[in-house]
Parts: sequence; structure tokens; C-alpha cells
Amino acid sequence: EPVPKAWAAGAPSTGKPAVTPDSVINLDHGDPTMFEEFWRGTGDAAEIVIPGWQTMSYFSDVGNVCWFMEPGFNHEVRRLHRLVGNAAVDGYHVLVGTGSTQLFMAALYALSPPADTNGGAPMSVVSTAPYYSSYPAVTDFLQSGLFRWAGDANSFKGDTYIELVCSPNNPDGTIREAVLSSDSGIAVHDLAYYWPQYTPITKRADHDIMLFTVSKSTGHAGTRIGWALVKDRDVAKKMTKFIELNTIGVSKDSQLRAAKVLKAVSDAYEMPEGKEEQHRLFDYGRRKMVERWSMLREAAATSGIFSLPEETSAYCNFANETASTNPAFAWLRCDREDVEDCASFLRGHKILTRSGSQFGADPRYVRVSMLDRDDAYDIFVKRLSSLK
Ligand code: PMP
Repeated sequence: EPVPKAWAAGAPSTGKPAVTPDSVINLDHGDPTMFEEFWRGTGDAAEIVIPGWQTMSYFSDVGNVCWFMEPGFNHEVRRLHRLVGNAAVDGYHVLVGTGSTQLFMAALYALSPPADTNGGAPMSVVSTAPYYSSYPAVTDFLQSGLFRWAGDANSFKGDTYIELVCSPNNPDGTIREAVLSSDSGIAVHDLAYYWPQYTPITKRADHDIMLFTVSKSTGHAGTRIGWALVKDRDVAKKMTKFIELNTIGVSKDSQLRAAKVLKAVSDAYEMPEGKEEQHRLFDYGRRKMVERWSMLREAAATSGIFSLPEETSAYCNFANETASTNPAFAWLRCDREDVEDCASFLRGHKILTRSGSQFGADPRYVRVSMLDRDDAYDIFVKRLSSLK
């Protein structure tokens, strides 16, 4: 049987198809393909080769709470946080997951009381609206007896809960803190976007449970690697148990690749000034995001029917200068009186976005990904500016 050519060459898929000026532009998902351009330029710094006999065992680091985590990955995670200064790592357990999505589920499992306690009532899971649309979906899809989605944290009554705090927030980019406080409530901090390309690094976060992912830090969403920083050993053990029961472990091949990618990021900042400068991910990312946000604001002003969150800025301890916030998503509002559903209005103009209603918010808002490739982004802003 003939083998398809791409297969025979071992060529990987490229993800979303290429676009032309009249294509449908899909900015619904936060697919971080913007970063491909950067990683095309880093040569072998972020490359790995895995011989056929390697990464075959289930086990990686049997002495660690997270026994399936590659020591090299653990090392590079800690090194990068020390470099960026966005999160404390000393005194924390690092756990690896298949994306931070798996670690989010692991946290729900670890933090909910067993089904035969708590009067049999499932743990309430809440987050301030507008909240990341996956939180309710992932919490409820298996209809667990351990936990259930309980909506907007601001209207929650009770003192036993898991509060998801996403900062900077998906979808609207705001900097957030927990809104609830109680001795029997627990916060999980989703810091997927707490990186210098998106927001000034103003403090070293030191919450009990913090989630991160290469999907947003380096753009390697397809590698499916996330990590959690967890203070409490028992919580870390229970989260590890979840992953053990769910997928036995996490792809070592992916961990090795993620470790190499994180190493390339740190190395570029620790090399002497000069030839490594163009290989500095956060400088590249920030420049790119600043440019895109300015294009978007200009397009919204030209059109006249859209509004965007106001730009804010603060001193960034990593960049050592004042920096603006450049969220990975635009929380766009259509101000036209006759448009009640902004997502369907934009769909009519071949721009796919996610409706505010999916984030527990007004459908006059949509969330637009800011991380697509240049060609799609350019067509998007051009199209948006022409809408009246
Ligand atoms: N948290 C937030 C806030 C996100 O936006 C995303 C990705 N859209 C995730 C978690 C999940 O990331 P991962 O690809 O690591 O599962």
C-alpha cells in the first residue's frame, strides 16, 4: 500500500490551514501559533532527538512525590521561575501534567472531600465572571459526585468551596485576586498568562496551588505539558494520584521536549549580551503583543462600533521598566444598539470568536485570540476596521 508522502517524510501536521484574504478567520481558540516564527529562528537550541530505546519505562524519578516527572523538566521549571521572578519555587512541589487542564482536574480531585463525608454534598467550584469557559465544562463533564460547578464566585453563598482565580484573567485580561475567604474554602491560582509578554511581573506569586503551562508561556500547546507548584505535600500526593489513575503518568517524550524548550528560554537570558538577543522569547513576545494591541485599538477606533478594555501599565520587575498589559485575548464589546449577539454578528463577517455568554457574561462581548499567526491576525484587524 502506498504511504502518503507527508507520512513517509515524517512531516508533522501544521495545525490550522493557511488563510487567504477572504477566508473565514478562526480566533475562537487560543491557539498560540504566533510563537512559531520565534521558534523557527532558534535553530537546534530547542531541538531534541530521542533514540528508539529511550523513554520506555513508566518511571522517571521514583524518589519524588511526582514519580513520573523527568528530573530535567523539574529543574528547568524551577530555573525559569527564578529567572522571571513570577512565582516562588522554594518549598514547593513541582508536578507535571498533560497540559495544565489535567492538573486543574487533579486539583479538583485532591481538594474535594471524599464522597462519604461532607454530608455527601459535592464540593462547590466557583470563579468570578467572566471566567474561563473550560472551568464549568471540565468541572461537570463527568458529573462527579465529588465536586460540581457553582457559578460566579461573587454570588456564591457558603464557606466550603474551591475558587478558581485566573490572573491575568482569560477572557478579559484583568489582574485578579480571590474574592472569597473562609477557613474551609481553597483557592487554585491559574497563572497560565502570568508571563512578561502578557503582563508586567509585579510580584513573586506564592499561593498554595499555582498552575502554569507551556501552551501560553512558550506557545507549545501541542506538546501538552503543564505544571503545578504545590505547597502542601498531601495535596501534591493526591494530585499525583489523580494523574496516576487518569493516565498513569505524563508523556516523557513531551516532558523532555518541554524541558529543552524551557532551557532554551532561560539560556538566551543567561548568555552574555549579543548574539542571543534575538532569541529572547519574552522580549520577542512583548514586542509582538504591543504591536498587535496597537493595531487592534486602531482598528476598533477606525470602525467606531467596538470597545476594548482600557490599557493599563505597571513596573515590571523582570523587564526593569514600566510595561503595559497585553492580554492574550481581546475582550471585545460591540456597541451597536441593534447587535445583541456580537459573536454571530462577527461570524456574519467570517470572523469566529467565542461569545461572552460562554464565560458567564453578556453576549455583546466576545473573546478574540491575539495569538494566531501574522497572516490571520492581519486579515482580522483589517476586516474589523471596515465594520460599521
Ligand atoms: N488555563 C487557562 C486560563 C487557559 O487559557 C488555558 C488554555 N486555553 C489553560 C488553562 C489550559 O492549558 P493547557 O493547554 O496547558 O491544558
